[in-house]
Amino acid sequence: MSAELPTILIVEDEIINIHSLSRILRGTARLCFATTGEQALELAERLEVEMVLLDIMLPDMSGFEVCKQLKNNPATFKCTVIFVTALDSDEEEAHGLRMGAMDYIKKPFNPIIVRERVQNQLNLTLAYRKLEELSTTDFLTGAFNRRYFTDIATTELKRHQRHNKDTSVMMLDIDHFKEVNDTYGHSVGDRALRHLVRICRDNLREEDIFARYGGEEFCILLPETDASTAEEAAERLRQNIENTPMELDDNQLHLRASIGLSGIDAQKSADIDYWLERADLALYRAKEEGRNQVVCYATEDE
Ligand code: GH3
Ligand code: MG
Ligand code: MG
Ligand code: MG
Repeated sequence: MSAELPTILIVEDEIINIHSLSRILRGTARLCFATTGEQALELAERLEVEMVLLDIMLPDMSGFEVCKQLKNNPATFKCTVIFVTALDSDEEEAHGLRMGAMDYIKKPFNPIIVRERVQNQLNLTLAYRKLEELSTTDFLTGAFNRRYFTDIATTELKRHQRHNKDTSVMMLDIDHFKEVNDTYGHSVGDRALRHLVRICRDNLREEDIFARYGGEEFCILLPETDASTAEEAAERLRQNIENTPMELDDNQLHLRASIGLSGIDAQKSADIDYWLERADLALYRAKEEGRNQVVCYATEDE
């Protein structure tokens, strides 16, 4: 979540209402507009809006249908929906709230009340997102944390089990990291962890799930990647870590890392810990065989 203003999408086919809502909400958020349901769905996804103020009577589809589609799309289901409508029966209001809308404002509306209700919901939305960010990311490096990794990997493995796709997992451990702390102090050690996270991010694909497993250990799930492709990716990553030094005041710090990896057969087990253990056995062998290298799990590692 960025520190910039949140975005509210106003979905309304009557220009006069668009004008009055934008006057009321100016300054509280970035505003964007749609006059049809289809346009609304497209913009909500593309602009990653935090909130949608949704009219119900629209030219192409009903606002209820727009709400349903927003809630069914993983890219938009988190946005807060508030109906702003001339439909004023209790049944319609109840229906809207049951669909997951956070509020239901009836036209004609009182501008001050609308502003305050929207502001309250916006505060809640932002607080919720902040909480979510804190619970999924590692404070020091900004990488995902282990809990989030386990959640996402579990979902991903279930999906792969159904579709029988290749997946791989890596465990990465910085070599002799204790020496970095002992030589340069903990704060340089912390910076080195962030440095490594940046290199990993630059080298992995968008769909790879990268997390801090704990201490100076990181895990990476590579969806739709077989073990030999993962091995190439791991070797590239290892080289980039070795060849991208961190600048210190008067010299450079070269990190090195060992990587253990395993292909995943989700048909055999969809438990991510089962495969992480195998990647960890391979990592152990990489350490034993001299560090700064990639080792792929083999059954004899057991
Ligand atoms: P190996 O090559 O066998 O992995 O050696 P190592 O020194 O990297 O491994 P060891 O497990 O002995 O030490 C890990 C070190 O990582 C010790 C610990 O102080 C450091 N470490 C773990 N978490 C943090 C952290 O958040 N910040 C800093 N600065 N250091 C950390
Ligand atoms: Mg309308
Ligand atoms: Mg370790
Ligand atoms: Mg280590």
